[in-house]
Amino acid sequence: MNLHEFQAKEILNGFGVRIQRGYVVSTANDAVEKAKDLNRETGTNFFIIKAQVHAGGRGKGGGVKLAKSIEDVYEISQKIIGMNLITPQTSEKGKKVHQVLVAEDVYYPGNSEVEEYYISVLLNRTTSKNMIMYSTEGGMDIETVAENTPDLIHTLDVCPIEGLTDLNAQEIALNLKLNGNAKNEMIDFVKALYKAYDKSDSSLFEINPVIKTSDDKILAVDAKVSIDDNALFRHPDYAEMRDVREENPIEVEAKEVGLNYVDLEGNVGCMVNGAGLAMATMDLIKQAGGEPANFLDVGGTADSERVETAFRIIMKDPDVKAILINIFGGIVRCDRVANGIVDACKNMKDEISVPIIVRLEGTNSKIAKDIIDSSGLNFHSAVEFKEAADKVQKVLDTA
Ligand code: GDP
Ligand code: MN
Repeated sequence: MNLHEFQAKEILNGFGVRIQRGYVVSTANDAVEKAKDLNRETGTNFFIIKAQVHAGGRGKGGGVKLAKSIEDVYEISQKIIGMNLITPQTSEKGKKVHQVLVAEDVYYPGNSEVEEYYISVLLNRTTSKNMIMYSTEGGMDIETVAENTPDLIHTLDVCPIEGLTDLNAQEIALNLKLNGNAKNEMIDFVKALYKAYDKSDSSLFEINPVIKTSDDKILAVDAKVSIDDNALFRHPDYAEMRDVREENPIEVEAKEVGLNYVDLEGNVGCMVNGAGLAMATMDLIKQAGGEPANFLDVGGTADSERVETAFRIIMKDPDVKAILINIFGGIVRCDRVANGIVDACKNMKDEISVPIIVRLEGTNSKIAKDIIDSSGLNFHSAVEFKEAADKVQKVLDTA
């Protein structure tokens, strides 16, 4: 689960990471009130107004703007709230901005004395360790840095059991070429950031930029976090932070009914039991020249109710031109699944307008094929895996 910048900063703050202070608001009037509060609390006269959407590169898209007066705060907030923000990380359609973060300007007294760094903590699946990735080249796209000047990106593996040691933190501060107070601040910053990543069960905590202010403070200006969905039950407070407006509406609905669904760009809807078989099915569709419209694992109980729910979710995607059902009947018998499919299709006769290719393999697969073939519905049955994918292509070609 991804969170907004202001939420990620809230989490960081709770673990003692120094952050650029600010308030989230959804109207320009509230933005003005909060700017006044910030002025009282920090003395700042400049404010940065930042669109809160789940996408990076907001600065480039016009979603991050400096306000040099309270009037500016009103005007800029008015413009950003409600806008459709297009950044290098959004689709062409962009993302609607519902909220802005009104934050203190921390680039005083001007950009010249401020240093920007990149620091992230993430899960390194290759080494089975956590990894801290950091660079003196903060503020810009880290992919660009990786491409042009890979030597300027440092990585450090951290043993998840031992945790981040003092020595690790010192090494990072040293490689970022810091000394004096800023060095000590960075050591504390990195330790607190690692703790936040670890204790929140995140798979990524990325701060870009981390800055050193003109008076040698180290603080987080931006924050991006991905929390492991499977650990959310341990963090009901974070689970409440979910903003479904930022998520794919079909995926949100599928989650509500307990289906494991990922929306994709293609036109072949897939209904499969088991994540591994679902991946293999997607590969096969691609090899046959098609494009999967989704990943969908219906799980162990492929009864008619569940199949019907799955059909409803798949048919919500207007791009779907054919559906491939590929189910292995191990514990659940194929004839039961076949009856489930037939019943679901009869119930949804008016809603399913696309051809359906069915492959049922496993216990009682022959009986299942007979049920499918004699149903009188718009089914194309297949026995072999490849045959199923080829049939998908054929119905698409003749459509
Ligand atoms: P992103 O574009 O989505 O990554 O959003 P960021 O939070 O990283 O902000 C984009 C850019 O805005 C930063 O790289 C900074 O250059 C600038 N910025 C952020 N906070 C301040 C601030 O307090 N003052 C000034 N002058 N610029 C800021
Ligand atoms: Mn950023």
